[in-house]
Amino acid sequence: MEESGGLPQERLVIHSGEAQQAFRYAVGRYGSRFFMELRDHRRILGIRCPGCRKVYVPPRQVCGPCFRRMDDLVEVAPTGILTAFTILRFSFLDPETGKPKPVPYGYGFIRLDGADNAFQHFIEIRDEGRIKIGVRVRAVFEEERKGNLADIRHFEVLEP
Ligand SMILES: [Zn+2]
Repeated sequence: MEESGGLPQERLVIHSGEAQQAFRYAVGRYGSRFFMELRDHRRILGIRCPGCRKVYVPPRQVCGPCFRRMDDLVEVAPTGILTAFTILRFSFLDPETGKPKPVPYGYGFIRLDGADNAFQHFIEIRDEGRIKIGVRVRAVFEEERKGNLADIRHFEVLEP
């Protein structure tokens, strides 16, 4: 083995084998309703706090700032504003599929119309020059939906 600057030329690779682990978990009552609305009606649900009136997407039980229980589910628009984004150019394992997601792809925070917090999802980046903070985006739903976050394929930039 030749060395250059103290570093070996040979690179070792450790192969752990074909490990697979089935993983199932309950998404809860609010999560179930959220995913059913995506699947059955292409609707995005949020939940309104009875105290501060903020709407959170996806729905959760408790408002963090008020610490009040929430149960007022409301529909928000599939459109909103891109508030932050990144474009990923290095692949890693997608926790939803267990497989590397093809790069490049966009990922961003979207403040949906009618919501007060940011919803995170993939951003369509066919034309990277159009991806800017503050642009309006719209959810693109899959034709065949299964009741999970992938029922939204991604968000696409709307024409100015
Ligand atoms: Zn609140």
